[in-house]
Amino acid sequence: MEPDKRARVEAWLRYAADMELGPYYRDRVSSNPVVQAAQAAVAQSSDLPQAPIAAAARAAGAGSSAGLSPAMPAPTASTRSSAAAPFAQAPSLFEASDRIAGDTFQLIRETIGDCTRCKLHKARTNIVFGVGSMKAELVFVGEGPGHDEDIKGEPFVGRAGKLLTQMIEAMGLRREDVYICNVVKCRPPENRLPEKDEIATCSPFLFRQIDVIRPKVICCLGSCASQTLLQTTQGISRFRGEWFDFRGSKLIATYHPAYLLRNPNAKGEVWKDLQKVMTVLGLQPKRK
Ligand code: URA
Repeated sequence: MEPDKRARVEAWLRYAADMELGPYYRDRVSSNPVVQAAQAAVAQSSDLPQAPIAAAARAAGAGSSAGLSPAMPAPTASTRSSAAAPFAQAPSLFEASDRIAGDTFQLIRETIGDCTRCKLHKARTNIVFGVGSMKAELVFVGEGPGHDEDIKGEPFVGRAGKLLTQMIEAMGLRREDVYICNVVKCRPPENRLPEKDEIATCSPFLFRQIDVIRPKVICCLGSCASQTLLQTTQGISRFRGEWFDFRGSKLIATYHPAYLLRNPNAKGEVWKDLQKVMTVLGLQPKRK
């Protein structure tokens, strides 16, 4: 798409998101019979609520300035039930067009370059791109690198990372079978939460990584990842363990391993969520 046309469409999408018009433009019916047939097929095959379109729209352009929209509808009991979902079950007009044809990890990494797009670059040691298999059926998305990850340039290698590795192995997988990445690729100072502008700047690269992998399941670890992908400001405990659709992948949110280090009692709930993932992927738990 030509840059000025794209800018106008993106501005319109941001406006529509702010006005909570997502459901309106999602369920317009195309007059093109081919698109109608595709929409009908998808509507039949999908019984999952769709992640709001603003996430997909932002994924279109690295460096897009749109932030999390507090006005976007959060996933609620009604959006979780397919019968009552206010979002149309067909792909939106824009969803198909904002995947980058022929995209690769190499291209994404080259585009990121020696990034100075947001203030997180100032204190980082390494950009933490992601690790694991490009063919992974399962992607874990965390918040952002911590101290150990910043030094090593690899996500989830510190204490929380060791717990994540144990969780992956308990599912009968190895770390290299899955893909692990974060919402932001540079360490937030003092391990603070990534800020809205940092998330808005960096998350399009995450969306491109997910589009390249096209995993069966995305498991969001903690509030930052799940709120970013689902475009909600609701607390994770409201929707943890529920299934959503994210650009054709099934998405589930669970607690962050760092939270489990502080609250080991929540491990049982996380294990239940991971068992749901295992069922979808046809995995057997590791024998002890
Ligand atoms: N916490 C995260 O969210 N990501 C990491 O990579 C490490 C810790």
